[in-house]
Amino acid sequence: MEIKRNISLAQYTTLKIGGAAKFFCEVKDEKEIMEALEFARKKKVPVFVLGGGSNILMSDKGFDGAVMKIKDSRLNTRGSSIECGSGVLLSKIVSESIKSGLTGLEWAAGIPGTAGGAVRGNAGAFGGEMAETIESVKVIDMNDLGFRVYDSTECGFEYRDSIFKKNYNLIIISAVLKLKKGKKEEGEKKAKEIIRQRKEAQPFDFPSSGSFFKNPICKNKELIEEYKKDTGKQAKDKVIPAGYIIDVLGLRGKKIGGAMVSQHHGNFLVNTGKATAEDFIILSAIIKTRARNEYGVQLQEEVQRVGF
Ligand SMILES: Cc1cc2nc3c(=O)[nH]c(=O)nc-3n(C[C@H](O)[C@H](O)[C@H](O)COP(=O)(O)OP(=O)(O)OC[C@H]3O[C@@H](n4cnc5c(N)ncnc54)[C@H](O)[C@@H]3O)c2cc1C
Repeated sequence: MEIKRNISLAQYTTLKIGGAAKFFCEVKDEKEIMEALEFARKKKVPVFVLGGGSNILMSDKGFDGAVMKIKDSRLNTRGSSIECGSGVLLSKIVSESIKSGLTGLEWAAGIPGTAGGAVRGNAGAFGGEMAETIESVKVIDMNDLGFRVYDSTECGFEYRDSIFKKNYNLIIISAVLKLKKGKKEEGEKKAKEIIRQRKEAQPFDFPSSGSFFKNPICKNKELIEEYKKDTGKQAKDKVIPAGYIIDVLGLRGKKIGGAMVSQHHGNFLVNTGKATAEDFIILSAIIKTRARNEYGVQLQEEVQRVGF
């Protein structure tokens, strides 16, 4: 395993933003993860675990430590179970599941990033989420370098959250997904339809990190009513799409430096070319302040800030 120095991280994020990592390596299995952790311990630097870089806002200063990009691409299907290394792309797992006549993961078609990032953030879309399919997750704890397997009941999955997100020291190495027997043609059709809907709803003209904010629980009755009137939809459990709130604030197209609220979708903040992480921080602060002041809604970022 090669450990490189001073590597620009912008190329490893879907937002195409970020300074350099002091140390950078790609690790393909548990042995290499251990080697990288040992290296960081000797150098006395922090470690950042990077998946597909599709849910992070990397600081313009970069990361003053060791960035470990997970490339573990093991993928095995046994019956209706799929075991995958945490570096496998989610899109690969979706296509493998469909090819094997399994159903339950079609909702994830078109989500970028790796299995590790998806498990940690309990990625979800179109009414599905990772939590529904996870049987177990294997981790290394950076504290004691011990291995541990969490079964699904121990993962603490919630909306875009998990025990792995709460504990920075847990590196996800692999996961076992439990799916159901289905029909290949139906799976293909479902996944195609999901991708069509994504293309319709989401911007692909500029780099982004997907939904920038989590969908908040809203206590403002008037806003809930307004949402129902405007969209014909009920706010389930008082959750309103962050994109709707950004829209009614009139912030589509709002630009700070090179960072812009997409013209196509209010919850996508995009890099129009030369954006800095600082531009995104300012734009995010403006959105959060206006949502709080005008609707009493506290927006939380779904995107992880790194190196700030
Ligand atoms: C166009 C677009 C559309 C998107 N649509 C969706 C969507 O519909 N639903 C959704 O939920 N998300 C969506 N996302 C966001 C993103 O793709 C997901 O959150 C994805 O699961 C992140 O995975 P990643 O590997 O890219 O994680 P990264 O961005 O690399 O990392 C995110 C966080 O996870 C941690 N992490 C990564 N791998 C590991 C590991 N092995 N062990 C421990 N921690 C780890 C990182 O340290 C970081 O804190 C979208 C993003 C884009 C750009």
